[in-house]
Amino acid sequence: MRAMVLDAPQRPLRCADLPRPAPRLGEVLVRVGACAVCRTDLHVVDGELSHPKLPLVPGHEVVGAIVEKGERAERFNLGDCVGIPWLGWTCGACSFCRSGRENLCDQARFTGYTLDGGYAEFAVADERYCFRIPDSYSDIEAAPLLCAGLIGYRSLVKTGDARRVGLYGFGAAAHIVAQIARYQGREIYAFTRPGDRDAQQFAKALGAVWAGDSDAPPPEELNAAIVFAPVGELVPRALKALAKGGIVACGGIHMSDIPSFPYELLWQEPNICSVANLTRRDGEEFFALAPHVPVRTTVQTLPLEQANEALNRLRAGKIQGAAVLVTNLRPRQA
Ligand SMILES: [Zn+2]
Ligand SMILES: [Zn+2]
Repeated sequence: MRAMVLDAPQRPLRCADLPRPAPRLGEVLVRVGACAVCRTDLHVVDGELSHPKLPLVPGHEVVGAIVEKGERAERFNLGDCVGIPWLGWTCGACSFCRSGRENLCDQARFTGYTLDGGYAEFAVADERYCFRIPDSYSDIEAAPLLCAGLIGYRSLVKTGDARRVGLYGFGAAAHIVAQIARYQGREIYAFTRPGDRDAQQFAKALGAVWAGDSDAPPPEELNAAIVFAPVGELVPRALKALAKGGIVACGGIHMSDIPSFPYELLWQEPNICSVANLTRRDGEEFFALAPHVPVRTTVQTLPLEQANEALNRLRAGKIQGAAVLVTNLRPRQA
């Protein structure tokens, strides 16, 4: 099968011809239709996340049809359309797994990082961690939901019932969160790289009540802010934009150092938290909600072989919405 492979960090992916993987006990083999490109893939390729399996097939926003099932894989039928997310396996026995926090499992395995992922024609996954994709989504449209959607959703949940929500970095996750927030009757304030008028217009088109530069103050005090951009300086800036008792949720897996800031910014009881990975429950909730909003994704598609180009565009901030690698299209997709 064709696959894009990382041999070592800070090197371009290599286009390879690998043997097709065989599903083992409880696993399914998915013929990949589309795989979205996440900023985490960029952190893995650039060596900022330092413990990938090598060689590695990246990609953890994988959508396709089940073509083969391993022994005792009974959850899905052949032909079912499923998504494979970042959380690929957990131990089920540690204190985190037993308290509804499998996202923090000590032994968790992650798709496209410690397990091979979806930058390939086929991918295997433990069926217990796959999600059924609602019928109203094509593979391409669904792919960004698998991480941008799920992590965005988990981040939004962290903000509780905050009414005015700031989004720092208006990429794949924010463009999905904005739609859900609006559906829930919240107001979105979008912060982009200074001067990025295209991203600001994009945010407004998705219902943001205000969009501006990340170094500018919002017109109203915010009840919460979600920082998706991997830029530490944004954390004190977000704190400064909050009303009393607000919350800053950091939605990325990696961020540059947060500069020191005066205690004054932590006075008046703001909370700062991060969002690490996802639980299967987040996914079940999100995929039940998404078709009702309905969440629509804006994508730029590239063929699988152009994964390096997709990563370069993401690094340069040139992707509006999400980049999606297209591998095998199913007939129902135009
Ligand atoms: Zn565990
Ligand atoms: Zn991701």
